[in-house]
Amino acid sequence: MMKRLAVLGHPVGHSRSPAMHNAALAALDMGGEWSYEAIDVAPDRFEERVRAMPGEGFAGANVTVPHKGAALALADELSEPAREIGAANTLVFGDAGIRAENTDAEGLLRSLPASPAGKRALVLGAGGAARAVVWGLLREGARVAVWNRTELRSRHLCEELGGEAVSDPDPGAYDLIVNSTAVGLESEDPFAELPLERDRFLAGQVVVDMVYGAEPTALLRVAAAAGAATVDGIEILVQQGALSFEIWTGREAPLDTMRSAARL
Ligand code: NAP
Repeated sequence: MMKRLAVLGHPVGHSRSPAMHNAALAALDMGGEWSYEAIDVAPDRFEERVRAMPGEGFAGANVTVPHKGAALALADELSEPAREIGAANTLVFGDAGIRAENTDAEGLLRSLPASPAGKRALVLGAGGAARAVVWGLLREGARVAVWNRTELRSRHLCEELGGEAVSDPDPGAYDLIVNSTAVGLESEDPFAELPLERDRFLAGQVVVDMVYGAEPTALLRVAAAAGAATVDGIEILVQQGALSFEIWTGREAPLDTMRSAARL
């Protein structure tokens, strides 16, 4: 029987995950046995949809906005990152029930050019993506500051996960800056909405933008022009997807194939 995989979201039509995973399955000659599709499911139908999936031949699923919290809540078993971050982006359907994993934090860490251990990191945002980033960076031994437009949220995040909430950070004082807010697509100007200045990036800094779509984003263009190393949202998507792929299939993910498919 075909082993089915899917990404569950709402909306999900824009997702690059089906192209990326189906390309990986084809490259490993697994396309006759495995398939990956996008399923749009509204929040009030999410649990019912997931519980039906094992009976329909699904071996696992990715979960994206707005379902990452709900995916954690319905699972029978949680990985440590999923439990501590408070969100799941990967579900595995097995004989023992539904297992929830989170590969977002490890995906971010793998996309960095060097270990963040001992580095000063500034994380922008306090939503689901920021939680995974802060958790991952702290686990690797970075010193993490968190800025968010709504400061109460960054304070709560730091009380729960660690790190220091900051209200007026100097971007030139950090080795690593991660934009994990939703700012940066299309009309939004990151330099108007975020505590960043066009002339405060430095050679030797690492600047990460989790937002993807227009590539490279305005933030990454300006950072690269100043000599900073940059990591875009597609690379993080690829790395988290590769980890999910390996969890489901037990095979090493073909990263270059996944990168090419995600960037088409
Ligand atoms: P979320 O939970 O809805 O959080 C949104 C965050 O953006 C909040 O911190 C919010 O601040 C901030 N924000 C929104 N509009 C803003 C504005 N105009 N000015 C300043 N801050 C603003 O979303 P999420 O799940 O964390 O996702 C955040 C972004 O990361 C999205 O663009 C998503 O596509 C991307 N992402 C990428 C990957 C990847 O693999 N590359 C994975 C996950 C997420 P407030 O608290 O003040 O509202």
